[in-house]
Amino acid sequence: MEHLLEVTNLKVNFKTHGGEVKAVRGVSFYVDHGETVAIVGESGCGKSVTALSIMGLIPSPPGRLAEGEIRFNGQDITRLSKKELLKMRGSEMGMIFQDPMTALNPTMKIGRQLTEGLVYYHGLSKKEAHKKAIELLNKVGISDPQKRVDQYPHEFSGGMRQRVVIAIALACNPKLVIADEPTTALDVTVQAQILDLMKELQEQTKLSIILITHDLGVVAEVAHRAVVMYAGTVVESGTTHDLFTKPKHPYTWGLMKSMPHLEGEHKKRLVPIEGTPPDLFNPPKGCPFAERCDYAMEICAEQAPVVRYFGNGHEAACWLHDERAPKFEELTAVGRQA
Ligand code: SF4
Repeated sequence: MEHLLEVTNLKVNFKTHGGEVKAVRGVSFYVDHGETVAIVGESGCGKSVTALSIMGLIPSPPGRLAEGEIRFNGQDITRLSKKELLKMRGSEMGMIFQDPMTALNPTMKIGRQLTEGLVYYHGLSKKEAHKKAIELLNKVGISDPQKRVDQYPHEFSGGMRQRVVIAIALACNPKLVIADEPTTALDVTVQAQILDLMKELQEQTKLSIILITHDLGVVAEVAHRAVVMYAGTVVESGTTHDLFTKPKHPYTWGLMKSMPHLEGEHKKRLVPIEGTPPDLFNPPKGCPFAERCDYAMEICAEQAPVVRYFGNGHEAACWLHDERAPKFEELTAVGRQA
């Protein structure tokens, strides 16, 4: 079956006074109907730029989609006109932003913010849209929605505001929702409630979700598959189970080792990944992780690694898996060696 979304060799650059930043450098991945795919990586790895490119929200200039294809529902959306893209974005894709306070307009009542898309894209009357707004608030677990629909964002708590943002993203029954760090601005207990809500809504609506996050705990909790990004490239991807039980890339190992553990030998110490990501004005010709990698070999600085396949859709770009590489010990589970 055709994927709902297929991103192929996406390259996005930004012009600055200092030169052109190559923020996304040949990213490929897909999302199927009804699944959650997490895009994971540290700040500046290109995950949010990838998401904004899918939504057609890269400001141009300074941004530029230099190469690649984004197929949504069988159609290359990089070729759509602004008007077509706006229509598709409003009715078939939704976005949940990181900070609900900045995502909502503080001067507009919640009901109005919920109904704008319904009136504009679905042609509902104001009365019908108001009724639907109450249903949506109810669906995302806001109590007393008849009263709440006429309130302003400052009258809601952080967790409730994020529920409203989710309701807005779902208002037009989209096929795909992109959630950019949806729980980062929330405290831990509210985070868990929001993740549970997203899972519940996905089961009810068969929605596909792209979850942008740097938090592997969130990935383990909700994602079916994950794409690990580093320095504007995909370094590893696979099912969440495979990535957590048999990660193949030294950067993924580093992420796993820097996660807090509450049990076993790793409960005491977090192991950070030393060093900083490469300069994307002038990316390295070899492996972008070479400067920080404990396993780097001569070839790593010279040639970009070839993608290797490990079955079940699991792949990683690393020279260690080349038959000519020396033997090494793989991590078989979170932070543990075989
Ligand atoms: Fe490390 Fe080389 Fe693999 Fe890059 S290709 S992650 S430098 S071993």
